[in-house]
Parts: sequence; structure tokens; C-alpha cells
Amino acid sequence: MAKRSDKHTSGPLGSGALPAKEQERLRQLYYAGAQLPSPMGGFLEVLHVQTEEDGSGVVIFECLSSSLRFRLPLKAATRTERKAVRERMDAGMDPECPRHEGGRRLQRVGRNFICSACGVRYARA
Ligand SMILES: [Zn+2]
Repeated sequence: MAKRSDKHTSGPLGSGALPAKEQERLRQLYYAGAQLPSPMGGFLEVLHVQTEEDGSGVVIFECLSSSLRFRLPLKAATRTERKAVRERMDAGMDPECPRHEGGRRLQRVGRNFICSACGVRYARA
């Protein structure tokens, strides 16, 4: 849980790495469904959401004013989150992403249940 792989902050320009401090704030805004302020001014637009090998997610944003692209890594599902999802499924309900306000239905991709908004894998069929 304390593992931090997003430590590098190799410059705001072009590298795609958002400053570590900004990342936590942007994650909160993203899960709240709010607009994300760009480090370059203006706002960020979601370009692409992907799932990593380890089940964590990555959201790629494009800055609307500079067209620069930024990556926001989102950590893999915790045991608590996976349990909550599984309980819903066991109860015959649609699995929802536990992170977004208002919920977000998980998509089944192969054997995996993935949130299309954060890319995180929460369950396996
Ligand atoms: Zn999600």
C-alpha cells in the first residue's frame, strides 16, 4: 500500500508526468467527477484509459490549452474494494466501481471486470 511508483517528476513539459503533489488532488477530483485543472492552465480532457498488467489503471489526459499529454496512474484495487465488488456480484447486483461518486458500472473484459473510467480491475469472473 505504501509503495510509490509514481515518484518521478521529470519536468512538467512533454514528459507526461504530473507532479506527485498534484496527482493526489487530481485523483480526488477525477473520482468526484469534477473537471481537472491542467498544470498548464485550463482543463484536462480524458484521452484514454488503460489497464496495466497488475490491475492498476492509467488515465491519459490532454491539456485543452497546450495539447500536452499527462499520465495519471491509479492504484490497483485494494482488498476492501475487491470485497465490496464481489459482495455486490454475489448478491446479484451489477458490479460498480467503488471509487467514483455516484458509482460507475464495471465492464466485463474477458474474464476481468474493469472500470472504464479509471481502468482498474476489480474482479475476475
Ligand atoms: Zn473507476
